[in-house]
Amino acid sequence: MLITWTVMVGITLAIVLGPLGSGGPIAGEGASGTGGDPYFYFSGRGRAHGVGLCMDGVKYRAIDGHSYRDIINNYYTGITFGQVDEYQPIKVKCRDGQVRTYTLHDYLYHLTEEPEDYPVEGLKVLYVAARTYTLSCIARGKHAADGYDICCSGNCCQAMDENKDLSKYPNNCAAVDETAGEVIMYDGKVITAAYCGSCGGHSDNNEDVWGGSAIPYLRGKPDPYCNRSSRYSWSAAFRKSEVEARLNSRADTAVGELYVMDLSNRTPGGRVKKARLVGSAAIKEVSGGVIASLFGLQGNMYELVHPNFDEYILVLNPNPEPTIVTFTFMQPDGATADRIEEVGANSRFTLNVNEYMQFEEVSTRVVSDLPVIAERAMYFNHQGRFCAGHCSTGVTEPAGEWYFAEGYTGGNFDTYILVQNPQPVPVDIRFTFMLPGGDTVEQVTQSAPFSRMTLHLNGVPGLEDTDVSTVVESINGDPIVAERSCYFDYNGCDGGHNAPGVTGPSDTWYLAEGYTGGTFDTYILIQNPSSETCEVEAAFMREDGKNITREYSVAPHSRQTVHVDKIGDLENAGFSTTLTSAGDVGFIAERAMYFDYNGCGLDDGHDSVAVRGPSEEWYFAEGYTGGAFDTWVLISNPFEEEAEVLVSFNTPGGDTVRQEYTIEPRSRFTVPVDTLEGLSDAEVAIMVESTNGVGVIAERSMYFIYTNGYCNYDGGHNTVGVTAPSATWYFAEGYTGF
Ligand SMILES: [Zn+2]
Ligand SMILES: [Zn+2]
Repeated sequence: MLITWTVMVGITLAIVLGPLGSGGPIAGEGASGTGGDPYFYFSGRGRAHGVGLCMDGVKYRAIDGHSYRDIINNYYTGITFGQVDEYQPIKVKCRDGQVRTYTLHDYLYHLTEEPEDYPVEGLKVLYVAARTYTLSCIARGKHAADGYDICCSGNCCQAMDENKDLSKYPNNCAAVDETAGEVIMYDGKVITAAYCGSCGGHSDNNEDVWGGSAIPYLRGKPDPYCNRSSRYSWSAAFRKSEVEARLNSRADTAVGELYVMDLSNRTPGGRVKKARLVGSAAIKEVSGGVIASLFGLQGNMYELVHPNFDEYILVLNPNPEPTIVTFTFMQPDGATADRIEEVGANSRFTLNVNEYMQFEEVSTRVVSDLPVIAERAMYFNHQGRFCAGHCSTGVTEPAGEWYFAEGYTGGNFDTYILVQNPQPVPVDIRFTFMLPGGDTVEQVTQSAPFSRMTLHLNGVPGLEDTDVSTVVESINGDPIVAERSCYFDYNGCDGGHNAPGVTGPSDTWYLAEGYTGGTFDTYILIQNPSSETCEVEAAFMREDGKNITREYSVAPHSRQTVHVDKIGDLENAGFSTTLTSAGDVGFIAERAMYFDYNGCGLDDGHDSVAVRGPSEEWYFAEGYTGGAFDTWVLISNPFEEEAEVLVSFNTPGGDTVRQEYTIEPRSRFTVPVDTLEGLSDAEVAIMVESTNGVGVIAERSMYFIYTNGYCNYDGGHNTVGVTAPSATWYFAEGYTGF
């Protein structure tokens, strides 16, 4: 496995950003590489130092009915309440620079940090703390040498305005009145009433944040209240180059190219104490606060994270003029966002979804002024275990029903069904799961307007440890989009694959790809969703033209799995498959393949649904032969006569490489794109055309080590082509998170 970076969800041990022997980034604009300048995110909670009173915690405790004394007792350990002279004189340096004498009471009236709309008991907490703080400043002579007791600056003492219009602050004034003279004491002295905006869910001991000796009343503890604030958690995104530029701008953090930022040295409350920086030029250690100030972070409770899923949408514009393309992202809660791009004439555009939707489950709709081709590629490390990529074409329109032959919840397999509701209304959805014995399991749920939904089949009661075929239906008929993703460890081949569903049964299905040589295993999945037995004839057409046929009897509401490697004369072959129903009972077919490509560790699997018929045109938006990527085009001729085929490879520079092939009757043909003249290191869009009217089926397989500048995902993916450009494309699947 080629991962150089790991994160355990919730606990960041060390972030390895660097190459550390993983080789340089792959350049290029395709999904095949991001140019090696990935995004990183500081993800944090809370504001400021996290010692003492938590302002957000005070607010929500007060809203929940806690008294001001209970709240103060919670945040300061072991304190008592004392009384001081509310009308003692205080010398204050005001905003105009003049020093004036106020009574303590009148000075508190003129403070400006306490929000008027704060709950009443919360305001009392703030004024008891402010009164206590004022007296502690006097007691330690904070500004004695300047000739006054306290100043009006919030950065130095407490924010105060001698011109405050008190008539606008009745709640503030009432809180001062109702707590008149009251201060917080410990061991006979007023305390240092430390406070912060938000403790991030856990405050800290004073000595762990500021050093020095322990103060008995400033003890860290959990706070389950401040997380109700919308400002509780935050994140800040930086490109890797920007992270390095900021670190290298200071002598104490300059380490050259950054390989590791180890943030594991933390306070008991979870704040970063020390950040250890390992780079090409040096290893350095600084306080967590230095990193926070360098990146403008709101406090020291943070992690450095990056997504484990990289998602790209590729759009090929085959027209001789530019087109405007609108990408609409749909999230689980129905929130949507648009991204509008112009795609040039005869060219390809790659949208890096991670740049717009961070750490999200997301479905996408693509709408273009002119018809285009769209695919989605994802490269990932699923749960830190299954590291690979998958790629699928979109579907051109929603439908009322979607069928999936493949699905498995046993062993080391996770299966997900993703549903996109592109309608402005909620849609009730029925999932029917068909088990090998003919039993079915149903689940009904509702999806929000313009939303994306995820169903993890392993968690559905009745679907434990089983092969499963699925039908997804819109109950009220409003059309939807559905895809299936599987993540797995298949006999040591870890990875993932994905395919959109098909909209209904057919009596004939075609698969161009299939290979049983080397480490490759090929399975054909046949789903019979009807209530009658389906007799299916499979014709396996080898590259050398030899045909092998088999017949399968598939019981009602069940699925048959054909392991092609076990069929005589197909143990070590490249082949295409045509599946035909003997009667008029329709069925669904898919193909799944698992492999260790060339035995060099590119282990993964891929899956594609079969297509309903041959076509004289096939389009692929993606194709890459540079770096550690290999691209293959597989063409099947299911007819009794030769097919004359023209394959065109369009490069970003506008050059087109053309190859002509004759495909023998009832055979399969393989185009190794990397070996073609001028295509050994190229990004290409691919078009397959029959020039003699004999239809063919075309698929594309890619095997790769994908790298994004901090980690490598090895594997392979496959997709069937599409037969025509379209002005709309839908992708139910999409993920940019962990
Ligand atoms: Zn001051
Ligand atoms: Zn808090």
